[in-house]
Amino acid sequence: MKILVALKQVPDTETKIKIHPEGTALDLSDVKWVTSPYDEYALEEAMRLKESQGATVSALAVGDDRVKDVLRNALALGADEALHVSTSEKCEDPFVVATYVANAVRDRGFDLLLFGNKGSGGDHAAVGPMVAELLGIAQANVVVKLTLDQGRFFAERQVESGLEVVEGKLPAVITTQKGLNDPRYPNLKGIMAAKKKEIISIPLTESISPALQTMKLAFPPPRAEGRQLAGTPQEQAQALLAALQNEAKIF
Ligand SMILES: Cc1cc2nc3c(=O)[nH]c(=O)nc-3n(C[C@H](O)[C@H](O)[C@H](O)COP(=O)(O)OP(=O)(O)OC[C@H]3O[C@@H](n4cnc5c(N)ncnc54)[C@H](O)[C@@H]3O)c2cc1C
Repeated sequence: MKILVALKQVPDTETKIKIHPEGTALDLSDVKWVTSPYDEYALEEAMRLKESQGATVSALAVGDDRVKDVLRNALALGADEALHVSTSEKCEDPFVVATYVANAVRDRGFDLLLFGNKGSGGDHAAVGPMVAELLGIAQANVVVKLTLDQGRFFAERQVESGLEVVEGKLPAVITTQKGLNDPRYPNLKGIMAAKKKEIISIPLTESISPALQTMKLAFPPPRAEGRQLAGTPQEQAQALLAALQNEAKIF
């Protein structure tokens, strides 16, 4: 079985995000880059399937040379192959990324294509489903449990207030949700071995124009400062009740 894991490189969630003065892009200086957290579940699931069913795992990232770091991390965790779709063009449209991924994988015979359900930061939740459509294959999204058997997948999807169980034919796209597994960390041996492994460069076969353009980025309005209630516990409870009634107008 051949498994693909698509990896997006994103700013670490602890990075203090700044908006570029022009207001339509982030200021990416001083950013620490990591693998998007949802993609870590995808990579872990691929590793578990490799261990239990003998699959080969290919990691793929679209972007400039900087994204090679997420590919090295995937190799350190046990991926067999790293594919780099190399482009440094400005790109804010998930359809462009999806087209580049679909073109890169179309003739590589993957049985299972794993994506994060959304890329941290962009949050479009679009690339995986678009790749499935472009390739004409099945898809199951926000998956929290995955089983493969005799050319079929069985997936539990997290839906509002419950679970949905779906089944379909491989090849298929699965997008991963928190709870699918607990991602592992690379060990030193894996990190050292990954440094020597080749990253295969896949040239773009076509360059497509984005249909989406970011017009504005803004932080949410600042939250009002909290205040401490003084007095005895009874006085505090009365003051809280008064504030909820008169200021917050909750009841
Ligand atoms: C060359 C390049 C330049 C970019 N320039 C900008 C920019 O100027 N401004 C800006 O705001 N954004 C930029 N981006 C980010 C780009 O807009 C997003 O990657 C894309 O729109 C997907 O958005 P998302 O994370 O919301 O997708 P989602 O659909 O939420 O992502 C879902 C999943 O798709 C996969 N995926 C997403 N992106 C990639 C990728 N690059 N490689 C492999 N798998 C992927 C991952 O598995 C991810 O979990 C750039 C990306 C590239 C590749």
